[in-house]
Amino acid sequence: MSDNYIYQQKNRLINYLKDAGFIKTKIVEEAISNVDRSIFVPPKYINESYEDKPLTIGYGQTISAPSIVAYMTELLELKEGDKILEIGTGSGYQTAILSYIVKEKGLVISIERIKELSETAYKNLEKLGLHKNVKLIVGDGSIGYEKEKPYDKILITAASPKIPNFVYDQLKNGGIAVMPIGSIEEQKLTILKKDDLGQINIRYDIGVIFVPLIGQNGFKLSNTQIN
Ligand code: SAM
Repeated sequence: MSDNYIYQQKNRLINYLKDAGFIKTKIVEEAISNVDRSIFVPPKYINESYEDKPLTIGYGQTISAPSIVAYMTELLELKEGDKILEIGTGSGYQTAILSYIVKEKGLVISIERIKELSETAYKNLEKLGLHKNVKLIVGDGSIGYEKEKPYDKILITAASPKIPNFVYDQLKNGGIAVMPIGSIEEQKLTILKKDDLGQINIRYDIGVIFVPLIGQNGFKLSNTQIN
């Protein structure tokens, strides 16, 4: 694929994401423009890197579509220096977008249950120099990550049957959590905000379809087709 082809595809995608309202701010536009998605997709899909669709990354998992990545990133209202907990590293693409926005002053802790995906994600992040403010952990993210709490933002990129309990405890006052909540078949993107006094507000947004969060506070492996 020539550089010119990538450039044209990327420009077309970004214009679409802006026109359709998935990208709303300069911060998110810059991140989507500068983090090369083709690094994170398997080589056989390289020509589809800048199409707005999810792609399989092995082990029954997916890299999410650029529109949903942009939309969730906007909902997090990120700032430079934020400390973020992400559950479901997958390819590392969303992690890279978060790392790009919070910069060196910030920190992204991302948990993935499949070791091989976490290892590939780290290599991908290194290629773009976006690994320095990122800590990748292999484990069950459905219980969060107690050790580094509290977090300014929490992003869960796998579907959960209910808001996992750790979110209430590990999110800072004034923080925002975004996650798909519902059944294995379909979910609502859910935004939980904790105000400065710790009061919780929950809003259910657009319908989405994510792979399941598998673990103690997610779906049980026996309920899914995935291994
Ligand atoms: N954001 C990722 C990207 O940009 O490539 C896509 C994430 S993919 C839709 C969801 C990921 O969540 C999968 O890689 C899956 O293995 C992972 N996952 C599922 N249950 C998990 C759990 N309990 N803890 C950590 N990761 C989990």
